[in-house]
Amino acid sequence: TYVITQPCVDVLDKSCIDECPVDCIYEGDRMLYIHPDECIDCAACEPVCPVEAIYYEDDVPEEWATYTTANAEFFSAT
Ligand code: SF4
Repeated sequence: TYVITQPCVDVLDKSCIDECPVDCIYEGDRMLYIHPDECIDCAACEPVCPVEAIYYEDDVPEEWATYTTANAEFFSAT
């Protein structure tokens, strides 16, 4: 799955939402989240993010590792 990280916070550009073929990017209060069970790893969202907030799960920078959990938990909480 792909993961949205820190740079998205309070930005919510949403360019990624238009690119996602399976509509698995959802809007939270302060950032967008990718549903880990719905993402098909197509990578379409990654290059269009103007703040480079999107990473493949294995490539998430260590300082933003908590965002991998945060993306998943956003959906388990709702
Ligand atoms: Fe959507 Fe593809 Fe990005 Fe996954 S990698 S969130 S399926 S655009």
